[in-house]
Amino acid sequence: PTDNTILELKDVQIAYGQIQAVKGIDFHVSTGELVCLIGANGAGKTTTLNAISGTLPIKSGEIRFAGQDISKLPAHLRLRQGLALVPEGRGIFTRLTVEENLRMGAYTRDDKEAIEQDLERVYSMLPRVKERLAQVAGTLSGGEQQMVAIGRALLSRPKLLLLDEPSMGLAPLVVEKIFEVIQTVVKEGMSILLVEQNANLALEFASRGYVMDGGRITLAGSGSELLNDPAVRSAYLGEA
Ligand code: ATP
Repeated sequence: PTDNTILELKDVQIAYGQIQAVKGIDFHVSTGELVCLIGANGAGKTTTLNAISGTLPIKSGEIRFAGQDISKLPAHLRLRQGLALVPEGRGIFTRLTVEENLRMGAYTRDDKEAIEQDLERVYSMLPRVKERLAQVAGTLSGGEQQMVAIGRALLSRPKLLLLDEPSMGLAPLVVEKIFEVIQTVVKEGMSILLVEQNANLALEFASRGYVMDGGRITLAGSGSELLNDPAVRSAYLGEA
């Protein structure tokens, strides 16, 4: 970690009752970085993201965000400080329209003009979303719902965006679009922590990555180092 660190986890443990899901992990994200967390099912990736966003308490250790210990801060205050989560399964409001969903993302803000600008920016990045503003979100395709979920998170103007499996179950062209948006916002200076089953894709775009296994971080490196690591290739990239 450096002065430029936006997120830092120090020896973080997370448990569900007696079940220890995360067994003391350390990692960091620097400002403007795209960092990915990869690993097998049940490794503890979703648990880690939920603890960072504040929807799950930690058992011990420390989570620091923008220079502050946020370990005990309620989730809505973390959002206000610039930490937004797009959860697994997207978490959109299915009975509200697309536009209402997007505007919900800005509920902690009162800078009306900037909100309208951010909406326009989301529309330009995601034209499919703009075409469907009045549609009830529950009737969107899975890919459209994922785009709305990402758009809604962007409307909170996050410093750090937490993305949980954004490509899950989506067609290749939609996945491509989502990664295009991810790259665009990173270029503009946003930081992203990405949990992804599609390790190949995540490592291709990430500056760094961490491999989780059984609640621990077992490997860390640059995206290309991990892509070329024989152990990573055989375990997570489907190679023998
Ligand atoms: P996946 O890719 O399958 O989502 P993951 O790496 O995100 O995997 P987690 O969902 O974080 O893994 O799960 C980590 C461990 O915690 C697993 O053993 C899981 O069974 C357990 N776990 C997750 N949620 C709960 C819960 N609500 N109650 C009890 N145990 C849980």
